[in-house]
Amino acid sequence: MAKLHVITYGCQMNEYDSERVAGLLREQRYELTENAADADLILVNTCAIREKAEDKVFSKLGELRALKVQRPELVLGVMGCMAQLQQGTVQKRAPYVDLVFGSPAVARVGELVERVRRERRPVMDTAEAPLVKITARPPSASRLKAYVTVMEGCEKHCTFCVVPRTRGRERSHAPEAIVAEVRGLVADGCREVTLLGQTVNAYGRDLTPPSDLAELFRRVNDVEGLARIRFTTSNPYNLTPKLIAAMRDVPKVCEWFHLPLQSGSDRVLARMNRGYTRAEYLDLVAALRDAVPELALSTDLIVGFPGETEADFEATLEMVERVQYDNVFAFRYSRRPGTPAAEMDEQIAEEEKARRNARLLAVVDRVTAARSARLAGHEVEVLVDGVSKRNVGELSGRTRCNRVVNFAGGGGTAVGDVVTVRVTDVMPHSLRATLTTVPEEAVCSSR
Ligand code: SAM
Repeated sequence: MAKLHVITYGCQMNEYDSERVAGLLREQRYELTENAADADLILVNTCAIREKAEDKVFSKLGELRALKVQRPELVLGVMGCMAQLQQGTVQKRAPYVDLVFGSPAVARVGELVERVRRERRPVMDTAEAPLVKITARPPSASRLKAYVTVMEGCEKHCTFCVVPRTRGRERSHAPEAIVAEVRGLVADGCREVTLLGQTVNAYGRDLTPPSDLAELFRRVNDVEGLARIRFTTSNPYNLTPKLIAAMRDVPKVCEWFHLPLQSGSDRVLARMNRGYTRAEYLDLVAALRDAVPELALSTDLIVGFPGETEADFEATLEMVERVQYDNVFAFRYSRRPGTPAAEMDEQIAEEEKARRNARLLAVVDRVTAARSARLAGHEVEVLVDGVSKRNVGELSGRTRCNRVVNFAGGGGTAVGDVVTVRVTDVMPHSLRATLTTVPEEAVCSSR
């Protein structure tokens, strides 16, 4: 068999696409290797969301060039969002790259690689293509937990974001295809799925007849053997009372919600074209916590958006305190080509963005530590996913609210079991706990 090495940057959707590509190429007799130097084909799956992500790719391509010089028959490909956004620029800056293709072309990866080999010249495919559900996965993919893409694209047109240009219009997969994929994964040992979409809570609007994420939760919930459902990423603009009710009522949907705020200032939110105000966002948080009191909330925040004043930034800090997030992803605004915000006046200096980022992280650390501390002494459900990184004599897993928990096993507890533990210690990045139920009882204890 020939050898394939895949390097993945960026979000969960890219991880998912990399798995599909490896699965499809397996059908063409390519097996995965961890070692780039052994590979006959190297694919770099790229992210274009921030300039730093693109810089990383070009520096990696620079490293890979040495392998290409040693072995000219090696095929080097660049796929994903940066390929779609930068198109010819990739080959201009890295002329030794043989293949450039965007996410619409993932289904045709085998054919594209063959063309490079046959024609012995660079190939680029960044055209739009119909949405195809690809379920191929390499044998090395995690059995226990899996990502499942339910829709592609985004039509929100936030002024800072390249995603509408890299991933195209919103297109949903049919619920039957998604349920069939989940069934297949569960038959292979999967216990937890994360339903993926750039605006996953806009799922189904484009289907005939239209559907929505709440309906999809119910259908996926019915898959026997599946223990948990997660989903990401949601946009506050599309968060409906029906979805909030489904989060409360559909038993396998976990009490974990990623709801990007981006800024706490109404003025900045309007300039970002987010479509909601801070008051509307706070109303959504109140409705969510009313429906699911134990909900863990996480968010994305951007600091240094063009024109962000000290008062705007303080409004973001204040929202972190007010919402009491469990986790926050903070990003310095990055000027992306072709986006309206890149052309706005009053771009903020990098040093000021760095200062604001550090101030934000200090508040985030305090707020998230306080949220974690509340878990001490509580009983929580854990899906066991392996042994503890620190102590091989202990098991590790995640709570429904997505916290890592380490605990001493017992009663035959094994990977894939759902057990109940009592939290004894709260650490910055994990919890320690003691087992309180054996697996069989715990499986029934999920809502
Ligand atoms: N679709 C989601 C939404 O809009 O709510 C977000 C998906 S995006 C892949 C992940 C995060 O990257 C965004 O929520 C945002 O915080 C951040 N991001 C996107 N564009 C950015 C930019 N130009 N500069 C800095 N951060 C950015």
